[in-house]
This record gives sequence, C-alpha cells and structure tokens, in this order.
Amino acid sequence: AKAAGKNQFKFYNQKLEKKLILKQQLEQSLHSDTDHQQFEVHYQPKINIHTGHIIGVEALVRWRNSDGELIPPSDFIPLCEESGLIIPLGEYVLTKSCEQAVLWREMGIEIVMAVNVSIIQFEDPQFLNSLVRILETSGISPNMLELELTESVLAKDINYARALIERIRDLGIKVALDDFGTGYSSLAYINGFPLDVLKIDQSFVRNMLRSKTDQTIIAAIIQMANGLNLKLVAEGVETQEHADELKEMGCTIMQGFFFSKPIPAKQVTAQLQSEILT
Ligand code: C2E
Ligand code: CA
Ligand code: CA
Ligand code: CA
Repeated sequence: AKAAGKNQFKFYNQKLEKKLILKQQLEQSLHSDTDHQQFEVHYQPKINIHTGHIIGVEALVRWRNSDGELIPPSDFIPLCEESGLIIPLGEYVLTKSCEQAVLWREMGIEIVMAVNVSIIQFEDPQFLNSLVRILETSGISPNMLELELTESVLAKDINYARALIERIRDLGIKVALDDFGTGYSSLAYINGFPLDVLKIDQSFVRNMLRSKTDQTIIAAIIQMANGLNLKLVAEGVETQEHADELKEMGCTIMQGFFFSKPIPAKQVTAQLQSEILT
C-alpha cells in the first residue's frame, strides 16, 4: 500500500510538472506571440437536419505549441482561465471568428458564428467594450454572432448575469446556454432568462440510445425549449441513430462528429460552396 501510495504521488507529481511546463509555455506563447500565430480557430458545422444545410458553425480554438504539438482546449483553457490569459486569447478568437463570418458573407454565405465565452471573460468589466469594438472593426452583423455561455455564469451572480446578457442581446447578438443540463441551472433559473438558444449537453446525447433516463431528460429539454421559445441545438451527435432519434424527438439543429469534426475555415468554405452547387 505504501508503494502504491508512493507511485500515485509520483504520478501526481508528473502530472503537476507537465501542467507547469504547459503553463509556462502558454504564458510565453501569449506574451511573445502577440499576433497569436500559435493559435488556430477551427469551426464545427451545425446542421439543419430537415434541409441538410449548414446553418452555422461553432468556433473552437486549438494551440500548436512551440514543439509543434496540437494541444486540445481542455488542456489549456483552464490554465488560461487561472492566469487571466483567457481574456486576450478570447478576444483573439472572437476577432478571428467575426472576420471569418464577414469573409463568408462576402462570398454570399450567411451562417451564424457561435463563439465560446469563458466565465472569466464574462466577468471582466471590459468585456462589453471589447465586444462592441470587435463588432465595429470586423463589420459582422451582430445577428450573425452567437455567444455560447455555460451555466456557470448564472451560478455566481444572477442579477449581474441577467443585466449583461440583456446588454449583449440589445447589441443584436444571440446568446446560447451551452452544456445545458449539466450545471447548476434549474428550470426556475432558465424561465424568463433572456436567452436565444439552449444546447443540450453531449453527455445526454451520448447515452440516449441506451439510457431511458437520458432520453427522458432530452425530451424534457426539447419540450421546455419549445415552451420558452428557445432554439435548440443537440451536440455530440456521433451516429446516424443519434440523428434519427433526435429528429424524431423534434430536434432540428445538430452538431457532432457524424456531420463533421471541427475543421479549418478553408474546409468549411469548400463544404459551403458544394452546398450552393447542389
Ligand atoms: P464545448 O463548448 O462544449 O465544445 C464542444 C466540444 O465537443 C468540442 O471539443 C468539440 O470538438 C467536441 N465535439 C463536437 N462534436 C462531438 C462529438 O460528436 N463527439 C465528441 N466526443 N465530441 C464532440 P473541443 O474543441 O476539444 O473543446 C472542448 C471545450 O473547450 C469546449 O467545449 C469549450 O468549453 C472549450 N473551448 C474551446 N474553444 C474555446 C474558446 O475559444 N474559448 C473558450 N472560452 N472555451 C473554448
Ligand atoms: Ca460551446
Ligand atoms: Ca457544449
Ligand atoms: Ca463542454
């Protein structure tokens, strides 16, 4: 038992060390690499299952570190949040995404650009200003932009959250609640809250074909979204069976590996152009 404990400690230490190295690399990257060349934004299509068309994309950031490794956001977003670096990084992702949406619009393609916003950004007093500035400099029409917030923003200070979300929506930007069903928000929170979109968390979708409970939760979320006049997106749709089942349950907009992984803008453009031709 003692040896096992020692091993566990060693393992923990290695993990911690890796985290520290990554954190140092990240800080260096974000300070020296001020034009964020090491960061790439990929886009995952959202599909209207009835038309088969791409109606929007979600922007998802990737980090290619100085060793050339592609680090997934789950490994570096939390570090960025701890250090506050998420604020400049978030601005970068938002800017890039808005510019990309404008490029697509110039090609005659109007799709909604959804961008994730961390709670740290949301609580930054400068957030609204920087949002307005990015709208202006990019030239995106605000109604083509959607911000994805998680339920954590509702958990802290509900009055602050409500007021800020109202200001954001007053700009014409849409607001989605991400990972819905996993966090703190109860139905009571959501009722009357100024939102446009609910995203069913992928954990429910993943298990829906074998778990009656998860299927029931999805059905309840769909019914609630309809009742509250919210748009609904199901994420984590990995198979035809998922898509069929969700469609039958009344879900129209879907996102997941079954349709496409997150891909570079160029690849999305190619898909969108082939849509126009067919
Ligand atoms: P999220 O916002 O819930 O994004 C969806 C995640 O699910 C993405 O992971 C996406 O690649 C993955 N996904 C999509 N479809 C499927 C599927 O069918 N099956 C499975 N297994 N996964 C699927 P990714 O890109 O690794 O991002 C993870 C999380 O990192 C995001 O979760 C989000 O919370 C955060 N993140 C990513 N980019 C940003 C960003 O620019 N800003 C902030 N604040 N957070 C970000
Ligand atoms: Ca998201
Ligand atoms: Ca999500
Ligand atoms: Ca998530």
